[in-house]
Amino acid sequence: MQHNVSLKPFNTFGFTVTAKYLAHVTNIEQLADIVQFANKNNLPYLVIGSGSNVIFTGDFAGIITHLDTNKITINGTQITAEAGVNWHYLVQFSLANQLYGLENLALIPGTVGASPVQNIGAYGAQFADFCSHIKVFDTKNMQTYDLEADKCAFAYRDSIFKQYPNRWIILNVSLNLHKKFIANLSYTPLKQHLAHQPITALKIFNAICEIRNNKLPNPTILGNAGSFFKNPVVTANIKTELQAKYNAIPIYKQADNSYKIAAAWLIEQCGLKGYRLGDAAVYQHQPLVLVNYGAATAQEILDLANIIQNKVRAKFGISLDIEPIII
Ligand SMILES: Cc1cc2nc3c(=O)[nH]c(=O)nc-3n(C[C@H](O)[C@H](O)[C@H](O)COP(=O)(O)OP(=O)(O)OC[C@H]3O[C@@H](n4cnc5c(N)ncnc54)[C@H](O)[C@@H]3O)c2cc1C
Repeated sequence: MQHNVSLKPFNTFGFTVTAKYLAHVTNIEQLADIVQFANKNNLPYLVIGSGSNVIFTGDFAGIITHLDTNKITINGTQITAEAGVNWHYLVQFSLANQLYGLENLALIPGTVGASPVQNIGAYGAQFADFCSHIKVFDTKNMQTYDLEADKCAFAYRDSIFKQYPNRWIILNVSLNLHKKFIANLSYTPLKQHLAHQPITALKIFNAICEIRNNKLPNPTILGNAGSFFKNPVVTANIKTELQAKYNAIPIYKQADNSYKIAAAWLIEQCGLKGYRLGDAAVYQHQPLVLVNYGAATAQEILDLANIIQNKVRAKFGISLDIEPIII
């Protein structure tokens, strides 16, 4: 285990924080040793992937563990990938093996191990659409077992792993993909982007990479954690009230008859696009993303988030929930 380690390479916001210990593990025995060591010494511990969905509010006084596991196997149309595999690499790997479905989830930063935690999603697809089961290490009873997808409480940017942090460490995920390509064009801007041309999985993959590269800041250049807020979900009654007041409001019907509102639009309507608080700012090209222009602290980002939440609540009566995990 390394001692007093900078976490700058382990958080895409680029905050200057340290961990008391950092461990890289490659097997369950090492993982079990760390959990036991932490419990015995009353130290907090946390498994981290690429740090693209975390906000460290200060130095971490315990053990940060990174899973250096990289195996991918294919069994028929099922693909199993270990936690340390880069998510985007898995998407590319699946397409190279003529297994389809993940193309809409191209270029989401981070690791396979974190993908179930907030049920990553984009452009009309989400992790849960493909999940068969997840191999976990249960830190409560130090056992390893498979959790079937229907036991993971997957929801919009949510799962049992997010609800009960540290209970389960994800070792690998098994995904059911398709041999036959069926285009998922449920996200209208994607459909428009690909209009009037034959659609292939590779075209969707390339289009999504292009859209994302144009829209989202590259964390290696401008610190950020992607969407900072979840898109709020409201009832049909609230939707009708909002539409009566704001006819341009982007609002989308969900499978359960609730309605999802584009949080970026709400923030923009509050005049906050590009708003800056020191080095913490609302990204000029996509107001759902908060960025670190260099020396912002987590507290400044959270203060900025608080200003946004208050303004959106005051104008629209809607609460915005923070998406990344605050540590
Ligand atoms: C530019 C940008 C764009 C993004 N776009 C999207 C998007 O379109 N859709 C989307 O859903 N997300 C998006 N995100 C958020 C992020 O990419 C995902 O949440 C991703 O899954 C995080 O992976 P990570 O390895 O960086 O996780 P980390 O940030 O390292 O960890 C996230 C959480 O998962 C836990 N965790 C990590 N590994 C394990 C494990 N093996 N077992 C148990 N718990 C674990 C951590 O403890 C932490 O609580 C974006 C982020 C950025 C920076």
